[in-house]
Amino acid sequence: MENNKVFRNWLDNFQLPHPLVIAGPCSAETEEQVLKVAHQLKDTDTTVFRAGIWKPRTRPGNFEGVGAIGLKWLQRAKEETGLLLATEVANRNHVELALEAAIDVLWIGARSTVSPFIVQEIADALRGTDKIVLVKNPVNPDLSLWLGAVERLYDANIEKLGVIHRGFSTYEKTTYRNNPEWQLAVDLQQKFPDLPLILDPSHIGGKRDLIFDLCQTGLDLNYDGIMVETHFDPDNAWSDAAQQITPERLKQITVDLKIRQETNEETKFQSDLQVLRTKIDILDNQLMDMLNKRMQIAEEIGELKKANNVAILQTDRWNNVLQKMVRLGEEKNLSKEFILKLLKAVHQESIQHQHRIISK
Ligand code: PEP
Ligand code: MN
Repeated sequence: MENNKVFRNWLDNFQLPHPLVIAGPCSAETEEQVLKVAHQLKDTDTTVFRAGIWKPRTRPGNFEGVGAIGLKWLQRAKEETGLLLATEVANRNHVELALEAAIDVLWIGARSTVSPFIVQEIADALRGTDKIVLVKNPVNPDLSLWLGAVERLYDANIEKLGVIHRGFSTYEKTTYRNNPEWQLAVDLQQKFPDLPLILDPSHIGGKRDLIFDLCQTGLDLNYDGIMVETHFDPDNAWSDAAQQITPERLKQITVDLKIRQETNEETKFQSDLQVLRTKIDILDNQLMDMLNKRMQIAEEIGELKKANNVAILQTDRWNNVLQKMVRLGEEKNLSKEFILKLLKAVHQESIQHQHRIISK
């Protein structure tokens, strides 16, 4: 996207003293459930009530949403609570029905953002709307696909745009349901600081215990809002039960979160510093994960050497690794001295892990 396209930050109009909170169940299940959750959210920081009525399930046979009937339940929730409404749209028909039902915020789901055909169809159906449109990141960690979707909507004269960071699929099992890959969202935020960035800790975490920490990281990175799946009986939700929290828990989370505001020179400095420190913390965590994986492989090598009666230290191999890494490190602006120290320490730890295996 050309950098001269300037996004107006529609969030400013809400004049909230805290980040935007979008909350509500993963799926609208029944009219009673929708109304009950909405009423419980009324006395939290929530501004927008979310509920999916068309649910994109990866595998068939899961609950696929109640469909258009749910729009009536949402309207009633708005009448009774004053909360704005948000739902996912995944094709032209959804858009038309959602616009007719005066839904305030329409979001494009992760499985739709990957498809330029679908995004274009949605953009055409939304052309010129003054509704808020939020684009979730695509399931795969591809920044240009995410930006491409934003561009298609912007080109359809939709100005109230924002993005939702919901994490990325990996084949490898990690702590998260969807890997955050914070750097990707931060890159997008740096390119377009006026494009509101909202965190979806529910779909990143996949487990309710992870939601608080994810929200805090998002706020430390200056995210503009959070979208949290909320249900009065999370364990019995019809979809994404493990990641939903009660409105009461949401309230506590918003009380406990440290929210920084950029008001003067000093707080601006603190806030800039915090953003940088959070980025360092994220990388340090990744470093620990990588080291842990490296040691696991060292142990596998230990098993193999033990089974074949081979010595732990293979000098040629080690010298090769050192040479290659010093060269690579220098390309990456890391001194030879540092690389040698680091690799020796890593190697020493690897040998200890192998020792433990071999002397078992
Ligand atoms: C959702 O928000 O309930 C949803 C289906 O999200 P995603 O598109 O991120 O999977
Ligand atoms: Mn969900």
